[in-house]
Amino acid sequence: MTRRKQVYEGEAKVMFEGPEPGTLVQYFKDDATAFNAQKRGTITGKGVINNRISEFLMTRLAEIGIPTHFVRRLNMREQLVRQVEIIPIEVVVRNVVAGSLAQRLGMAEGTALPRSIVEYYYKSDKLGDPMVSEEHITCFGWASTHDLDDIMQMSLRINDFLSGLFLGIGIKLIDFKLEFGRLYDEHDQMRIVLADEISPDNCRLWDVKTNEKLDKDRFRRDLGKVEEAYQEVARRLGILPEMAAGDVKGTPTVQ
Ligand code: C5P
Repeated sequence: MTRRKQVYEGEAKVMFEGPEPGTLVQYFKDDATAFNAQKRGTITGKGVINNRISEFLMTRLAEIGIPTHFVRRLNMREQLVRQVEIIPIEVVVRNVVAGSLAQRLGMAEGTALPRSIVEYYYKSDKLGDPMVSEEHITCFGWASTHDLDDIMQMSLRINDFLSGLFLGIGIKLIDFKLEFGRLYDEHDQMRIVLADEISPDNCRLWDVKTNEKLDKDRFRRDLGKVEEAYQEVARRLGILPEMAAGDVKGTPTVQ
């Protein structure tokens, strides 16, 4: 068996060269990190569940016209994606005060925002992903004003759609992080597409009735029942029944 070439390894995923030019295989790990990797751990079965949740959400988003890097799921932990040039910006959309916004401005977590807020962070582990403004992004050439218009429009559309989708299964979408990439076609035409993943690793998801946290904050804040929370999101999305309980735990070897 030939060993695939690893292109990149992040905190929660590994990217390998794909079977065709212009594609990559995105492998989902069970590893979890928080607070700029100062806290590390394993969430058993997370990779399997996030692969499925991200497949589901990216497919629904493509159906409403959001271009994404997702091609198809290959197996329990891997999906085929289009190779894109990642824009080094993390886009955070917020509907309710939580996390760093609560800390930075001294606001009570759980306060509904009068309108959704979009924030940008510069992707740099070394610097701890500092918050930046549109001015910094365009000034340093990370993205153009036109790119940012596309990114902002898509992010708000994604927020509207996902807020409704989650509300339908009794979950409030508090906030989430998106990443975008540049995809070039055969005529060298560029378009911006949604990349990375959408899962409880990068969304805050609270139960509508109880405000119970169903996301990575359970790991970050040592709240317990971390695996159960990820499984609950998958179950409500109607994804879990297709997986045998034992499948979630298995960690197939990466070739
Ligand atoms: O920590 P903060 O409140 O800024 O996070 C906002 C949202 O972005 C949360 O849903 C969090 O899971 C996500 N996020 C992320 N990766 C980061 C920072 C934040 O997925 N590096």
